[in-house]
Amino acid sequence: MIKVRNLSKHYGELVVLKDISCNIKKGEVISVIGPSGTGKSTFLRCLNLLETPTGGSIFINDVPLLDKHTNVPKLRQKMGMVFQSFNLYAHLSVIENLTIGPVKLLGKKYTEANAKAMELLKIVGLAEKADSFPDELSGGQKQRVAIARCMAMEPEILLFDEPTSALDPTMVSEVLAVIRRLSREGMTMIIVTHEMDFARNTSSRVFYMDEGIIYEEGTPQQIFDNPQKEKTKAFINRVRSLNFRIKSRNYDLYAMQGEMEAFCEKHMVSKKVTGFVVHIAEELLELQTDFAGISLSLSYAEKEGDVQLVCESAGLPLNPLKEELLEDDIALKLILGRCKSVNYSYTDGKNILVLRIKSE
Ligand code: ADP
Ligand code: MG
Repeated sequence: MIKVRNLSKHYGELVVLKDISCNIKKGEVISVIGPSGTGKSTFLRCLNLLETPTGGSIFINDVPLLDKHTNVPKLRQKMGMVFQSFNLYAHLSVIENLTIGPVKLLGKKYTEANAKAMELLKIVGLAEKADSFPDELSGGQKQRVAIARCMAMEPEILLFDEPTSALDPTMVSEVLAVIRRLSREGMTMIIVTHEMDFARNTSSRVFYMDEGIIYEEGTPQQIFDNPQKEKTKAFINRVRSLNFRIKSRNYDLYAMQGEMEAFCEKHMVSKKVTGFVVHIAEELLELQTDFAGISLSLSYAEKEGDVQLVCESAGLPLNPLKEELLEDDIALKLILGRCKSVNYSYTDGKNILVLRIKSE
């Protein structure tokens, strides 16, 4: 359905897209992931010609998009795009947001457009809000209206550019649920996203973008469980864990706790376990004697549902499992009581402590 060959995009000296080639079949759901600034948005914008590519070619159902004889507006209608920032018409009601395009651009009769719009609002769970104005809706509702508005134009392909990143965490799942539903109904979609669980569970393929190319692509299992190339590995590791470098005893405890809580919430770790994690991290740092090079990393093992805390510190051996320490340190005893397993090792002048925290 979509064929991209050697697509490039430069902004002056800046080469954002170097050489992108891919094929996307009808019904595929592609998640595009990667560090920010690697051209993910630019790629989507080139696909629907919001940006003019510098070179290469794009075919939609074998029609060359960049050929000057191609009817671009007509082809572009086949591609709906959902943005981070909703872009609803503020002065129109929800239902009018959905009918204006079909009436003005597709030449539909108002009654027909209206009936179709109501059907779409039902699909996204907002039939009740048909006569509300965008201002009266939550972020998650606005984004669902934006998706329905796209669908009203009967696109063959939907492009999403980080559809949930402007939302409150509590509203992310309602929007993802709608996208998931469209994927089950066979919609062809390309989704730039930071929601890794969503990318893993919903997409048929994942593109990891870096260095101006699709640096690595594969099934979600391949990319998330067994990435092959260096930068993909580093990226996947980073999104799975939260890392801190602690440089002195006066580190910012509250900032660290806040980030840990947000990380746990994202992975749906219970409040109780989150509390343990935060407490254990604080106690672990309390134990340290040498702040020359401490790194603390928090990760979540999806399969087991376990949270793991790894503390690395340079300096002399400091084994918290040693009897003498345990004898008189009640806090430490409490920590260990909350762990499923504790492993300590000392190699190359580094203490490495790995704690798996009990999930109940
Ligand atoms: P991503 O979506 O992966 O975060 P973008 O596609 O938004 O990345 O941006 C890639 C790079 O292109 C960034 O360095 C950005 O500053 C640059 N860029 C994007 N749009 C423009 C523009 N209109 N003019 C100049 N530079 C741009
Ligand atoms: Mg972007």
